[in-house]
Amino acid sequence: PSYTKDDIRKMAKEEEVQFLRLMFTDLYGTIKNVEVPISQLDKVLDNKMMFDGSSIDGFVRIEESDMWLYPDLSTWLIFPWGSEHGKVARLICEVYNADRTPFYGDPRNNLIRILDEMKEMGFTDFNIGPEPEFFLFKLDPETGKPTTHLNDKGSYFDLAPVDLGENCRRDIVLELEKLGFDVEASHHEVAPGQHEVDFKYADALHACDNIQTFKLVVKTVARKYGLHATFMPKPLDRINGSGMHLNMSLFDKNGNTFFDENGEEQLSDEARYFLGGLLKHARNYTAVMNPTVNSYKRLVPGYEAPVYVAWSGHNRSPLIRVPIARGLSTRVELRSVDPSANPYLAVAAVLAAGLDGLRNKIEPPKPVDRNIYVMDEEERKASGIEDLPSTLHNALKALKTDDVIKNAMGPHLYNNFIEAKRLEWEAYRQEVSQWERDQYLELY
Ligand code: GLN
Ligand code: MG
Ligand code: MG
Ligand code: MG
Repeated sequence: PSYTKDDIRKMAKEEEVQFLRLMFTDLYGTIKNVEVPISQLDKVLDNKMMFDGSSIDGFVRIEESDMWLYPDLSTWLIFPWGSEHGKVARLICEVYNADRTPFYGDPRNNLIRILDEMKEMGFTDFNIGPEPEFFLFKLDPETGKPTTHLNDKGSYFDLAPVDLGENCRRDIVLELEKLGFDVEASHHEVAPGQHEVDFKYADALHACDNIQTFKLVVKTVARKYGLHATFMPKPLDRINGSGMHLNMSLFDKNGNTFFDENGEEQLSDEARYFLGGLLKHARNYTAVMNPTVNSYKRLVPGYEAPVYVAWSGHNRSPLIRVPIARGLSTRVELRSVDPSANPYLAVAAVLAAGLDGLRNKIEPPKPVDRNIYVMDEEERKASGIEDLPSTLHNALKALKTDDVIKNAMGPHLYNNFIEAKRLEWEAYRQEVSQWERDQYLELY
């Protein structure tokens, strides 16, 4: 909703809000916040809140550390919990440099920059419907620390018996609704202890804000049930991981540009070229969609996660699916994304890839309606189907070759991302896993 400063002052007063959380997101997708007492509200609304950016990973150097927070008033909401010490409201902010220019190390600002490019091309909205999945594990009652013990044996769309996880998920949905979320579906996922909550699509910026808020709500509610909610992509060996499929469509003033009644399969040229761009850059933006070492343990055959670069209108195995819905709901679904991705960065990258497709009229390859997982390497090669990168290392190598995706991140985010992820890979390389000892210790 669009609020004025006066609306906010009024709501803060009527609801007796005591604290304000000013939130933004760092390079890794982690929410950061500065909390101030409500006495600072006017200062906040006038863009006069400063904070020290040098304490945030991937932000700035010590000598230029003073930064401004500019609140986006449309993100105002009051948290429904934790009101013993007074109600807490939040505002999501954009980070500005000391000289009051936008700071492009802030992933949200960076997304706004790519959305402006989209608007220059005549589009009004990039709509995103996310499908985040997560696991609920028991907290250790002694230490309060997360375990990997599951509390249910349920599976996809299971109904009975209702367990702790189901109740927790219902509570999550109720809290989300209180916060104004339009929850469209929530269900048990394939793996035991795994859940999915789908909420209504929104314009890219607010969809990303929603993902961030969603994670906070899920984790907070889970704690009340003695559970730990994790968005780690692949927490358990040989069991489905958690994805965060992104459904996307591009709107202009006349509505959804992806729909064309007379087009082939009722898809427009825009939809086709966007798809072409998404597929062309798919290997290269993988590092952004799947940014952790662990992400690549999910992208293996046999667990409903994509492994190959292909699209289809009918089967669910490929990287990109065009669901059969048409009209306003015409969309493409990218299935590689996992919930460890920074949503602002991920959305900036896919939008840039799609816009590149539109600018250069990139035709997508033919859809693959066969099961790719039964094709051998030769057959895949003959059909022009490439593999997604198999490790973070390979994904970073691919990213470095792609100027469109680099530009979508901007130099500040790109350089910090590459360096942080190189260090992560180097650290991982030094570790020897139990699997290796089990395989080799006695054999050699
Ligand atoms: N959990 C699967 C993944 O890793 C998706 C399962 C589904 O939604 N059908 O992407
Ligand atoms: Mg789903
Ligand atoms: Mg799912
Ligand atoms: Mg899906």
